[in-house]
Amino acid sequence: MNMNDTSVRVGEIQLWSKSLIMTSKEAPADAEAASHRLLTRAGCIRRVAAGVYTYLPLGWRVLRRIQAIVREEMNAAGASELLMPALAPTELLRETGRAEAYGDLLFRFEDRHGRDSYLGPTHEEVITDLMRATITSYRQLPLNLYQIQSKYRDEYRPRAGLLRGREFIMKDAYSFSMTLEGPGGLNEMYDLMYQAYTNIFTRCGLDFSAVEAEAGPIGGSASHEFMVNAPAGEDKIMSCPESGYAANVEKCEIGHRDHNFDGPPTGDLEEVHTPECTTIEAVSKFMKVKPRNMLKNVVFQVQDEESPVRWIVAVVRADHDANEGKVRDAAGVPIGIAEDGAAMKGAGFAVGYISPRATIGRSDILLLVDPDAAQGMGPDGTKGMFWATGADKDEHHVKHFNWVREMGDALKDVRVVDIRNAEAGDPSPRVEGVALEERRGIEVGHIFKLGCKYSDAMGFRVLDENQQQQSVIMGCYGIGVSRTMAACVEMSHDDDGIIWPAAIAPYDVLITPLKVEDDAETMVVARDLATKLALAGLDVLVDDRNERPGFKFKDADLIGIPVRITVGDKGLAEGSVELKRRGEEGKGSLVKVEEVGAVLGIQD
Ligand code: ATP
Ligand code: MG
Repeated sequence: MNMNDTSVRVGEIQLWSKSLIMTSKEAPADAEAASHRLLTRAGCIRRVAAGVYTYLPLGWRVLRRIQAIVREEMNAAGASELLMPALAPTELLRETGRAEAYGDLLFRFEDRHGRDSYLGPTHEEVITDLMRATITSYRQLPLNLYQIQSKYRDEYRPRAGLLRGREFIMKDAYSFSMTLEGPGGLNEMYDLMYQAYTNIFTRCGLDFSAVEAEAGPIGGSASHEFMVNAPAGEDKIMSCPESGYAANVEKCEIGHRDHNFDGPPTGDLEEVHTPECTTIEAVSKFMKVKPRNMLKNVVFQVQDEESPVRWIVAVVRADHDANEGKVRDAAGVPIGIAEDGAAMKGAGFAVGYISPRATIGRSDILLLVDPDAAQGMGPDGTKGMFWATGADKDEHHVKHFNWVREMGDALKDVRVVDIRNAEAGDPSPRVEGVALEERRGIEVGHIFKLGCKYSDAMGFRVLDENQQQQSVIMGCYGIGVSRTMAACVEMSHDDDGIIWPAAIAPYDVLITPLKVEDDAETMVVARDLATKLALAGLDVLVDDRNERPGFKFKDADLIGIPVRITVGDKGLAEGSVELKRRGEEGKGSLVKVEEVGAVLGIQD
């Protein structure tokens, strides 16, 4: 390429009849999400199998535009593109333990020679393997490498079209640094990606926010998710309206909450037989006790062989959800939700009927209590707090649990700490007296400080300045490219169809001649106009189908091209065409043919 070439790119002209744009009135029967419905109806995608789609010409054009933006911003941030295979040997995943950790999410099979293989859900292992084979010295770092590629995850419930697919397009980047701080360090790489992501989603025309996410191994705010604001989103975002603090509910801190175990008993401890009550709802209904008056005791298993503490019992009010990340942080050891019923029974737990009393006198169990559960007085402050909880005996619960009476001396070993998911109305962790708000979002990007997790597991060390072997510090950065397209539709549509943000629309302009015979004046003008706009760099679709105007207008609204130019005999009699922007109310405006360029902001 000539580096001094500043000429404008020439746009493309496409005739509708020569592309496969199969619009339809019918939405898939199971399509709840607007993006699933509209992308299908607009002929952008077609389902091949559950969570597997063909990207049809219109949809593929949008994806290519998103990818172009992603490439420009990644390259500008100093990253370099490569392409790894989707197919890889499972022994790589065994090195990091993810062959097991991924479980059923992994598409895994044997090839004809019996070699265990998988289709990449993400590529930390493949790239770390590449790097350990090629990088030997600190002089070769830092590096940030990325690819845009199909990823495979056998999601239990693929849903909402492209929002959760089993094959989907991801941009994944991996950075490699010698240090955390300073030039070329992980923090700098991370900040560069944060900025690149902000640029990408802004350029895509998305209404999004970057929120703090579950941090993982390094701690701090070492992970951010980029969320498109959309009510249909699966993720819950909590935010403080005063400070601007925003976090995924999995990560969101809660401001100070008072607690006090003291309070008079509400009655004698009463055992209730609760057969076949396996859920909070069932127990609540059976005992006629509201979940907010019940203590939920969630058991976690410690995953560190060295730790003397083997179990954690996390107590929250039954209308709240225990938060695994917060429990882990409070305990200071790696944990997982206890799933092995036999092991739990072996440890003395009456699974499903546990109370805080199960921890008394047990040095192998840590008891953590959320402040809202650590209450002895009722809400009005006059009577004791009524609690129901497990009886530590199969098929039994108790009423009138009183912390002081039931726990006795053991109460002093109890740790009260925030271990639950935040909810709307909870105190903001940043500004006193302000309540957290809740909204929904779609995770389109995720940046993550990995640290040495993969380089340690896979033995990726290089010589540092002092000729010492040192583990390389990694970051990883993902964008759901196909999900971004769907998120965009969730954010921007109306009853009639998609309203593409200009930067990622499949075409910039749709020209609709009302008569389409080759020699019809409307068709001649449409062609001339298309050529002129294309020369100015716009991509133009010409609806040359011999259909009724009303039918073509409906399709135009459905596929959502930002500008529609209608060429009809009536307007042409006055030298005009009708120009309408998608999403704009009313009929559009008459514009002189020679002024169309100016109206669209194009220089002749
Ligand atoms: P989720 O929590 O939605 O399952 P994740 O956190 O597991 O996603 P990451 O591993 O962070 O996903 O992947 C990077 C990005 O890839 C995500 O931010 C998301 O945009 C996209 N992505 C992940 N899973 C899917 C999927 N099944 N279909 C489409 N896009 C996906
Ligand atoms: Mg994620």
